[in-house]
Amino acid sequence: MKPQYLCPFCRAAINVKGNVVLAARNLKDIDNKGLVFLHEEIGNYSSEISTSLKVSPGDMVNFYCPVCQESLDIEKGEGLAGITHLDEDGKKSTVVISRVYGEKSSFQVHDDKQITSYGAKLSKYIDPEWFIMGH
Ligand SMILES: [Zn+2]
Repeated sequence: MKPQYLCPFCRAAINVKGNVVLAARNLKDIDNKGLVFLHEEIGNYSSEISTSLKVSPGDMVNFYCPVCQESLDIEKGEGLAGITHLDEDGKKSTVVISRVYGEKSSFQVHDDKQITSYGAKLSKYIDPEWFIMGH
């Protein structure tokens, strides 16, 4: 099985052709919104955004499921959003990404609460309990 990214709410697969597709809105302006394509390889920060979304490095966005519109932001983990990941063996984890444009840090929280970090190290305290989603 190929790795899959799922919305933790509606369980729709949201990865297409090597990209994870998210709906996003710039916090500065509610009409400033569009789609974000993130590379599905965790820790690869190449991304594309649709033309109606205007973001500058340092801007914070809200992320939404493109299928059910549910917010993917993590309430307790300020500035973070989470999506469900299933690896080749169907093993589930939560991939957590920064909601700050240009911030190259992400991590994966496994069901046994182990955390794997990618990219720049997050300076803030992370509690794996915040991210165990979809149970
Ligand atoms: Zn959804």
